[in-house]
Amino acid sequence: MTEAAFRIANERMHRWQERSGGREPYLCECAVDGCREYIELTKDEYEAVRTHVRHFAVRADHVLQDLEEIIERHEGYVTIEKPAPLTPLLTETDPREDAHGEFRERASQLADEIDPR
Ligand SMILES: [Zn+2]
Repeated sequence: MTEAAFRIANERMHRWQERSGGREPYLCECAVDGCREYIELTKDEYEAVRTHVRHFAVRADHVLQDLEEIIERHEGYVTIEKPAPLTPLLTETDPREDAHGEFRERASQLADEIDPR
């Protein structure tokens, strides 16, 4: 749920900000409680992560080794894949999906509480 909230917050930032094509700050989308670290991605790198509903961008040292699989390594962040059983939750909370429900509502509320820089 935390990661879903951060994904929504990042999607909002992604839409507001005038992205230059260079690297821009996004919130680390990890499962570490209270993490407010930033990672830097280009718009294209961010889009690449968002094409898959179970993919998230996190700092390399914030990966939960026993739960998350590293898909790609980049400078300053890695792309991870969440376990398949989470697909229904991750689909419902995906800002790119036109989904509604209790998970979506909770994740959006949590995203409202995240203060972007
Ligand atoms: Zn983190």
